[in-house]
Amino acid sequence: MAKYSGAVWRPIRENTTQPGIRPTQVILHSAVGSGSLYDLFQYRSDLESHFWVGFSVVEQYVDTTIQADANLDANVRAISIESADNGDPDHFAWTDYQVDQIVSLLVWAHRTHGIPLRRCPAWDQPGIGYHTMWGSPSHWTPVAKTCPGAARINQFSGILARAVAQAGSGEDEDMWLANVAGPDTREFLIVGETKIHIPTPGIRNELRAKGVPDRGEVSASTLNLFRTVSPTDVPASAEAVASLQAQVAALRQAVEALQNNLNVAGG
Ligand SMILES: [Zn+2]
Repeated sequence: MAKYSGAVWRPIRENTTQPGIRPTQVILHSAVGSGSLYDLFQYRSDLESHFWVGFSVVEQYVDTTIQADANLDANVRAISIESADNGDPDHFAWTDYQVDQIVSLLVWAHRTHGIPLRRCPAWDQPGIGYHTMWGSPSHWTPVAKTCPGAARINQFSGILARAVAQAGSGEDEDMWLANVAGPDTREFLIVGETKIHIPTPGIRNELRAKGVPDRGEVSASTLNLFRTVSPTDVPASAEAVASLQAQVAALRQAVEALQNNLNVAGG
């Protein structure tokens, strides 16, 4: 069983009728509408997604170890996330709430199923994607469509970068450091104070297309959260952290010594 604790669990019949899967991909969708998809999936459609991200709630309809049918040939390996869009996904971007929820879901999928937080390098390879990433029709859709819409496709790289940052800022610190030693480690992004590794040329090319240079400061008019650094900064930052930790330990000792003196003076 794999249920996301941040979602309302609303199981549909497919949980008992569909085969099991070992998910290696997450694919993002937009529903062209605003309401919950529970009734549609439960009573009126043979297609369904694992999740739906509304404007103030997230619902899970299918366990992520069970197949959901939203991605044609990728159904055997993909977790699907549908989302509300006011009926206009080409112009109505994911809201701040929706972006937060999608980022958290991607981090959860990464930690629960080991799905890599990178753009899928091919339609059948592990990673994160959006429905029409390989065109339409394609292996991921039988029909012509724009899902998840132009406005949302523009948000894709930023969402992926935030997921990498969020995963790398917690217990996955070691995994992130391990990535640094890999073969494709020339570029890094900083989001806030968190250094993150962008591992694929595809993501790098998308960021270049948006005006993010490979090195140096990024203008505020492009993605003002991002700037790139040389990997040589990474050991430097590890040293800086170690130095700060040593200073904190020294301060703590000094405070304890002062308290001991006070205790002695106070009798
Ligand atoms: Zn879709």
